[in-house]
Amino acid sequence: MAASSKLKSFTESVIREMTRLSDQYGAINLSQGMPDFDPSPRLIEAAVEAIRRGSNQYSTTWGLDGLREAVANRVREYNGIEANPEKNVTITCGSTEALAAAVFGLTNPGDRIIITDPFYENYVPDAILAACEPIYVPFSSRDLKLDEEVLKSAMERRPKLIVLNTPNNPTGKVVDKEQLQLIADLCQEKKTIAITDEIYEYIVYDGRKHVSLASLDGMQQQTVTVGSGSKTYSVTGWRVGWAVADARLTDALRKVHDYFTICAPAPLQEALVTALNFQSTYYERLKEAYDRKRRMMMKILDEAKLQFQRPEGAYYILVNVPDEFKDDQEFSDYLLKKIGVAVLPATALCHDKALGRKKVRLAYCKKDTTLQEVRRRFGKFAEKPKSPIRTKM
Ligand code: PMP
Repeated sequence: MAASSKLKSFTESVIREMTRLSDQYGAINLSQGMPDFDPSPRLIEAAVEAIRRGSNQYSTTWGLDGLREAVANRVREYNGIEANPEKNVTITCGSTEALAAAVFGLTNPGDRIIITDPFYENYVPDAILAACEPIYVPFSSRDLKLDEEVLKSAMERRPKLIVLNTPNNPTGKVVDKEQLQLIADLCQEKKTIAITDEIYEYIVYDGRKHVSLASLDGMQQQTVTVGSGSKTYSVTGWRVGWAVADARLTDALRKVHDYFTICAPAPLQEALVTALNFQSTYYERLKEAYDRKRRMMMKILDEAKLQFQRPEGAYYILVNVPDEFKDDQEFSDYLLKKIGVAVLPATALCHDKALGRKKVRLAYCKKDTTLQEVRRRFGKFAEKPKSPIRTKM
């Protein structure tokens, strides 16, 4: 059987591979960004109730009326985006599908797509499967700002799309208003559509504020704002996300969504209405809980004498590969097999492989007890000397 030649341009997901190895070695899995704790009991009840009540068939393709309305209300209140549930909101199978539907619905083969580097794993396959050319714009390793000159010259190539993720996975960067304004100005000048992946929008630290690109003057017409229940409500397995966009853009991505998946899981859409109507205290507590986990993770790394980038948002931390290890792969291998903690080699998330080889990513969306066990295991790391495992994983 001859597979599509497009598949040669990207590898299988390293995140999912690390999760498999983590299970094989009985490690604590910090390689994948999924919580090991339950969502609010009210959500579990709402989901069970929805199934019992008979919400077991396809929903309207664009998503349940009640959920589209709840999303429209939330983005108006939190993100400063005006959305009509009928024309501007589409419920998808996670933000993963929203991103893919937007890329497929808005591009032609040969179009260019700006992707910031490092990136969340899925953006590159989305671009390649849509026969588009990715153009990478790096976050500077010094202050994690997008390099303005590189961005400007990338925009000179008149890309059809720019994909922006803030708060950012894996860097933990919360893109500030000044950089957003620069992107907005360039998008308007070059007629580039922005897809903003904002699934960590409620997880920001040290008093920072999340700002949606679409809330900037003139950007609502040319931004697809992507959100999800996965991270905000700790239900990554439910596969319910959304895209909020101008009617023209919405029509395009809905057409793809309809044929890709028909609809997101109906009872879980129903349960998410309950979630989206949570009071503001829910979001405050979520932020506080993640801040506590972030601090715990930073303490563990400090104790192990490992250097890292302090996250401003989301729930990942990039850790420098210590000198005694050749690269990210060798360090990950050591942590997996000798320490019992699975992490993600950062080359999987970097176009600039030289940068990736110097970092690994840890996800700290874990129970406090899990993090305490991580601390105990990392205690072994502080004991010198370390002898890297030289065999290939
Ligand atoms: N975007 C980013 C930046 C992510 O980190 C993830 C999941 N780790 C996703 C999208 C996928 O989320 P969903 O479950 O909503 O498909």
